[in-house]
Amino acid sequence: MVESSDVVVVGGGITGVSTALYLTKEGVSTVLIEKDSVGSHASGFAYGGLGSHGSSAVGGAAFDLASEGMRLHRQLAEELPEQTGINTEYRPRSSLSLVFDEDEAEAARAALPSKQGQGGYSMSWADPRALKEIDPRISDAALGGVHVGGTADVDPYRLVLAMAQAAMRSGAEIRRGRVHGVSREGNGYRISTDGRSLACGSVVLAMGPWGGGASSWLGVPIPVRPLKGQILRLWAPGPPVRCSIGWDGNYATTKPDGLLWAGTTEEEAGFDETPTSEGRSRIMASLLKMFPSLTETQLVRQTACLRPLSADGLPVLGEAPGWDGVHVATGAGRSGIVLGPAMGRITANLIITGEAGMSITPFEPRRFVDSGTAAS
Ligand SMILES: Cc1cc2nc3c(=O)[nH]c(=O)nc-3n(C[C@H](O)[C@H](O)[C@H](O)COP(=O)(O)OP(=O)(O)OC[C@H]3O[C@@H](n4cnc5c(N)ncnc54)[C@H](O)[C@@H]3O)c2cc1C
Repeated sequence: MVESSDVVVVGGGITGVSTALYLTKEGVSTVLIEKDSVGSHASGFAYGGLGSHGSSAVGGAAFDLASEGMRLHRQLAEELPEQTGINTEYRPRSSLSLVFDEDEAEAARAALPSKQGQGGYSMSWADPRALKEIDPRISDAALGGVHVGGTADVDPYRLVLAMAQAAMRSGAEIRRGRVHGVSREGNGYRISTDGRSLACGSVVLAMGPWGGGASSWLGVPIPVRPLKGQILRLWAPGPPVRCSIGWDGNYATTKPDGLLWAGTTEEEAGFDETPTSEGRSRIMASLLKMFPSLTETQLVRQTACLRPLSADGLPVLGEAPGWDGVHVATGAGRSGIVLGPAMGRITANLIITGEAGMSITPFEPRRFVDSGTAAS
């Protein structure tokens, strides 16, 4: 086991693992330290829906970041199965957002021409007849929906595992341990973990919803908190649901495991990752709103995990103010699977070349210092 490394990455979710992959591919020696196991939190239990069309302000920094994430996902889908033998179950898969309210339907239809074709997505309005062609079980109460082509999905756990394996093949070392702090040492840093420490030149804090804990290590604000979400994996009678069908932040689709995955909840529950019967009831209610005939489903598995949500809802990406070479990469909220590879690629770019490769100004951690947010 090495006692020093060019870079130490803290956190083995999609963001940390992507960073380690892109660093080691460029020959940078990297140790990744994970307190539990790789992909054992949100990055392993997310729904895995991939699209950038929902990102606010098409053409803005958030849209560009998500589009870069989509580009890298397509690349990873080609490379990883060959490199690692792991099928990440990446599938091009259209998505359909149902509308049940007349005003919302009008607004959605009116917004379509301005969004058409942007980012390579095809968008069309599906009227009630078209909805029935997509899936005859969709509720008669739905007034229509926005059908988007160009989206995809993936098995997030297999993806993180494949990226971790590819990173190890390029020379990354993955260690189990909890990081307790970062201190300056010479021109670099010392990372303390349970009972030992490691010297390095640069640090990446990719700690997901636990990222706020690094505020006290650095004395700078990293206002990120957990937002719990739950998913049901169901056996459902009848044919598979062939696209990702959603409504009001909820969604359902049949995954390659043959199960209908339905979600989700948004709960302020601290760091509690326990699935609950209340969560189950809420998800079932939203599933039945979309598919009233699906009353005979059977629960196979229920999962819960924590999204990393920043104070302003934007990712937190870039160097920590006053800490040259200490990079923060978290806060991707509901889009962390889409954004993870882009956040990893940008962080690796910053370490290797000093340049992000695209605009990250709205995401930089220094915005919280400028706005006077207190370090916790
Ligand atoms: C129900 C649900 C569904 C979702 N569906 C989607 C989706 O369809 N599409 C999408 O794009 N996104 C989705 N997301 C969001 C996405 O899962 C997250 O944004 C993303 O996984 C966050 O990745 P991360 O690497 O930042 O954090 P995490 O996956 O939480 O990884 C952080 C890691 O850091 C480790 N860590 C923390 N502190 C320390 C420490 N001190 N020492 C060592 N290790 C440490 C943790 O153990 C953890 O493994 C969903 C989230 C939820 C909850």
